[in-house]
Amino acid sequence: MPLELTQVTVKNILTRTTGFLREVTSHSLQPYRGCTFGNALCGVGCYVQHSRHITQGRRWGGFLEVRTNAADSYLANCDRERRWAEKRNEAFSIFCSSATDPFVPQEFRYGITHSLLEAMCERPPDELVLQTHSHRVAECLPLLQQLATRCRLRVHVSIETDRERIAGLPPHASPVERRLTACEKLRAARLFTVVTVSPLLPIAEPERFFARIAEVADAVVLDHFIQGDGSHDGGRTLRTSLPAAMAAIDPHSVSLAYRDEMAACARRIMPGRVGVNIAGFAGRYG
Ligand code: SF4
Repeated sequence: MPLELTQVTVKNILTRTTGFLREVTSHSLQPYRGCTFGNALCGVGCYVQHSRHITQGRRWGGFLEVRTNAADSYLANCDRERRWAEKRNEAFSIFCSSATDPFVPQEFRYGITHSLLEAMCERPPDELVLQTHSHRVAECLPLLQQLATRCRLRVHVSIETDRERIAGLPPHASPVERRLTACEKLRAARLFTVVTVSPLLPIAEPERFFARIAEVADAVVLDHFIQGDGSHDGGRTLRTSLPAAMAAIDPHSVSLAYRDEMAACARRIMPGRVGVNIAGFAGRYG
């Protein structure tokens, strides 16, 4: 299926957070609308596909709007948005991204995220959480190092399982091993690096997986689709083929008890460095 790719401009690239993200940052920022990882494994259960406001009836993974003025929009709006956050006694903090991936393949042609990171080096927020499913985040290492001297920076790399393939589902957008290696590079460069096991999928060798994460990341966050997909009971994900594929590997994995077991395993291996659900995304580990 061909990709519907358009170039658009936006008024304000900074969105004041609502809902579950309210606990994490004051603002969210999407360099693109749509996500070309939507055809990969993470796109199967991706909760963004349920937003009609975003898809406007288009197939998830089939469209991408490139926000060409993202950096200019950031620079034009960051002072006002900082004042808005400060009036509420909040830090001016940004989550990038909650409804796309900052390192979709098209990023390496259009450089929207790159230009935003440069703009943030010029006018930094207090904190940036950079969330991706791609190992290619490591290609921005020098820029990220520069930004880390100007603001608190946390790089979140989603790695939902240690399995390279889940039967019946498409391949990962980025191989598990390459994402782990990217984390290793980021951490070696002294960037605060977090593996987000989100949504948690059945793990083949939990002890080995968390031991590897303990080596390559500063912290880990576990998030199950139940309580983690923006609906109170995992209802959004239950409408997709993800739970059946998970249950075919391990029926127990579609329950919150599985998340708690995995979190207990992670805590044994990396005590004080494990976050669960939204508290973990907000940087609270125990
Ligand atoms: S990278 Fe994120 S936004 Fe894109 S399809 Fe995967 S889960 Fe959804």
